[in-house]
Amino acid sequence: MSTTVADVGEDWLLDPALAPNAHDPLLAPLYAGAARGELVLPSCGACGLALELEQRACDRCDSTDVVWAAVVPAGAVHSATTVHRRERGLVVATEPYPVVDVELDSGHRLVMTTLAPQRSAPAIGRAVRIGFRSVGGVAVPAAELSAAELSPVPPSDTEVTP
Ligand SMILES: [Zn+2]
Repeated sequence: MSTTVADVGEDWLLDPALAPNAHDPLLAPLYAGAARGELVLPSCGACGLALELEQRACDRCDSTDVVWAAVVPAGAVHSATTVHRRERGLVVATEPYPVVDVELDSGHRLVMTTLAPQRSAPAIGRAVRIGFRSVGGVAVPAAELSAAELSPVPPSDTEVTP
């Protein structure tokens, strides 16, 4: 299997076989939005509280009315870690890669990797935009960092184990 990321739409991290099911009944609104370039996330239809992706009832008011809507695709790094993983045939990246827990301006939290390969985790509190990777043709959220942030930085003060 080639590890060259050359074709448009080929992900830098995962083999296309790991594409999520865009028609998953719980997460279909997320993937449909991502395909349009929008970050669509669930909130409570009664009180507006930001919900976790697969949350079915509101923590604040117990409502089970879940409303999916586009949110501003921006936030900050809440925590981040660098993963060293080789899984031939599934993980195509040959270098360590960051996994980032992003606290979005909308109040949602979302775990993702970066839009472009990066050997180290971004700094905590770093502002990020949310872009989209394509894994086997399915768009998935990814943290977009500025060019300056893409340079390798010493890991000692940037890695956090959640
Ligand atoms: Zn609520």
